[in-house]
Amino acid sequence: MLTPPEVIDSVVVHELCHSKEMNHSARFYAEVLRVFPTYWEQDKWLKENGDILMAMLEN
Ligand SMILES: [Zn+2]
Repeated sequence: MLTPPEVIDSVVVHELCHSKEMNHSARFYAEVLRVFPTYWEQDKWLKENGDILMAMLEN
């Protein structure tokens, strides 16, 4: 399966934002969305297609 480049970007932004917020709080997502306003579109793609990808990146 091909992973759209913007989905990769959203995962990178997600991980980078954990350097500021080590959790999935509202503040964390506020930071993600500030950097990457379409985050939820990519997150939706990942939820539908990227379970294995996220499992590798998330603990
Ligand atoms: Zn996370």
